[in-house]
Amino acid sequence: MNELLMEFKELKEMKENIRRSVNALELCWGCERICECKQQTVDDAAPVWLCISCRNKFSDYQPMAEDLFRTAVSKF
Ligand SMILES: [Zn+2]
Repeated sequence: MNELLMEFKELKEMKENIRRSVNALELCWGCERICECKQQTVDDAAPVWLCISCRNKFSDYQPMAEDLFRTAVSKF
């Protein structure tokens, strides 16, 4: 009975992990591909979703981007 309960718990955790990964998938506004994106705010404009490679492009352009990401990520 306990083993069954453990398996059920593991399955529940697995499901939760998948759900979290899927939620991180967004359409990148830079390259227009579905990938793991983070919300990015550039200047005072509305927030956009960008993947890692597009974000790197932006951080060259704007050194403050990394701090903005950390703030955005901590809200999740
Ligand atoms: Zn991209």
